[in-house]
Amino acid sequence: LRSAYDYDLIIIGAGVGGHGAALHARSKGLKTAVLTGGDAGGTCVNRGCVPSKALLAAAGKLRELKSVERLQAMGIAVQGQVAYDRQAVSNHANSLASRVRGNLVQSLRGLGVDVLDARGVLLEPQKVELRKPGEQTGDRRITARDVIIATGSVPAVPPGIQIDGKTVFTSDDALKLEWIPDWIAIIGSGYIGLEFSDVYTALGSEVTFIEAAPKLMPSFDVEISRLAERLLISPRPIDAYTGVFAAKVVPGMPGKTPVRIELVDAETRAPVEVLETDAALVATGRRPFTEGLGIEKLGVQLDRGFVPVDDRMQVLDQKGTPIEHLFCIGDANGKLMLAHAASAQGISVVENIAGNQSYFLRMECIPAACFTHPEISMVGLTEQQARDKAEREQFELGRAVGHFRANSKALAENHAEGIAKVLFRKDTGELLGMHIIGMHAADLIHEAANAMNAGVPIHKLAFSVHTHPTLSEICDEAFKAAAGMAAH
Ligand code: FAD
Repeated sequence: LRSAYDYDLIIIGAGVGGHGAALHARSKGLKTAVLTGGDAGGTCVNRGCVPSKALLAAAGKLRELKSVERLQAMGIAVQGQVAYDRQAVSNHANSLASRVRGNLVQSLRGLGVDVLDARGVLLEPQKVELRKPGEQTGDRRITARDVIIATGSVPAVPPGIQIDGKTVFTSDDALKLEWIPDWIAIIGSGYIGLEFSDVYTALGSEVTFIEAAPKLMPSFDVEISRLAERLLISPRPIDAYTGVFAAKVVPGMPGKTPVRIELVDAETRAPVEVLETDAALVATGRRPFTEGLGIEKLGVQLDRGFVPVDDRMQVLDQKGTPIEHLFCIGDANGKLMLAHAASAQGISVVENIAGNQSYFLRMECIPAACFTHPEISMVGLTEQQARDKAEREQFELGRAVGHFRANSKALAENHAEGIAKVLFRKDTGELLGMHIIGMHAADLIHEAANAMNAGVPIHKLAFSVHTHPTLSEICDEAFKAAAGMAAH
C-alpha cells in the first residue's frame, strides 16, 4: 500500500533531539528523513556538551597534576613543570566533536534514515520545503504524516554587549580556545559560566563573575551553591560581582586594549563600576533558533521565540489548540534546555505517534549536571521548592544526607569533599529531589533519577545493595538515613 506522504516522519534539525527521535523512529519502522541545516550534531556535538566536556577533562587532569598536596598525601610527587599546549588541548576538543559528529551521521544513515543537508521551512504542518543555507526559496518539497521541529538554540546576548568573537565572545567561540586571557570576566554564573570558570582557572586565567542575581549559581539548591562557593570558587583565583548587570561591554584588542565593562546595579540601574579585563565570556543563557522556520504562518505565536507545546510536545496554535501532526522538541520549546531532555522528548513523541498513547515523559525526573571539579548534579525539587510544596500540600518533608568524607572510595581517591542530599515525603516515602556536589556527582545522580522515574519510595530504595567500595554508597548512606537506618 503506497502512503499518501513521502515519509512517516520528517525531523527538522539533526542535533541530539533530532538524532534521538530519528533513531527511535527507525526502531519503530517509520520511514524517516532528518534535515541537518548543514550542521549535523547541532549544539551539543559541535559547540556544547561534547567539546566543553573534552576541555573540562583536560582541565581536570591539569588541576589534578598541579594539586601537589593532594598528590603528596598519596605518595606521589610530580617532578618538573606541569605544562599544557593550548593548541593541542583545543585539537582534543575539536577532534572529539568531529568523531562524535561522524558517528551520529553514520548511525542515522546505517539505520536507513534519509539525512538531507538542507534547511527546512514549514509550508504546512505536514509539508516542508528544503532550502540551501542562505537561500530564500527551495525547489524540493517533502511531506510526512508527522513532523518534528528540533531546531535548538543559540547564545542569547543582552543588548549593550558587543560580540567580536576575539575578546568578547560566547561559548561558541570560547570552545575554540584561540587564546588564554590573563583575566577574563564571565557574565552569568549558570552551568555554562561555571564550567568555563573551571577550564579557564585550570589554564591559568583569573576569573571575575558578573551575576545579576543576588548570589552566584542562582538556580542551584542553596546549600549546594554555598558548598560550591567553598569548593570551587574560594580556593581559585575567582572573584565575583553579584546583583550587578553588565550594561555595556565594548571589545578590546587581544594583548593591547582591554575590554571595557560598565556595571550597573541590577535593580536600580545606577552605575556601579567600570571593569577593564582582557576578555569577557557572555554566558547569559540561550535563545531558541526558530527564525525563518515559517511556523508563525501556521498560526503559532512564538513565546520569546520558543515554540509553545503541550505535555506531549505537540505544537499549540495561538488559541492554545494542538496542531495535528506537528511537534517540537528540545531547546526550541524551552521546557528544559539539556541534551538528554531533547532526545527523551524525541523518543516520547515517536512513542506517541507510533501508537503508544500511554507513554508519558516525566520531565520532573530528568537530572542535570554541571561538570566542574568537583561536579554538581540535581534532579527534582530544590530544598526550598520542596519546603514550599510541603507547606502547600500539608505533608512533612524529609531530608537526609550522605557524605563524601565518610566514603572509603572517595577517601582512597583523596577527593572526600561534598555531599549527596535527598528530599522526600515522610508520609509516602516519595522522592522529591536529590542534589549532589562531589566527585562524579553527574553519574551518581541517576541513583535518585531512576528511582523517581520508576516511582520507588525511599524505604524500598534503602534496601537496594551497593557495591563496596564505590561512590554510590554515598547515595546509599543518604537513602538509609532517610529510612531511619544506620549506614555502615
Ligand atoms: P541543537 O543541538 O541546537 O540542534 C538543533 C539543530 O537544528 C542545529 O544543528 C541547527 O543548526 C539545526 N537547525 C536549526 N534550524 C533549522 C532548520 N530550519 N532546518 C534544519 N536544521 C535546522 N546539555 C547537556 O545535557 N549536558 C551538557 O553537558 C551540556 N553542555 C553544554 C555546553 C555548552 C557550552 C552549551 C552551549 C550547551 C550545553 N548543553 C548541555 C545544552 C545542549 O547542547 C542542548 O540542550 C542541546 O544541544 C539541545 O538539543 P536540540 O536537539 O534541541 O538542539
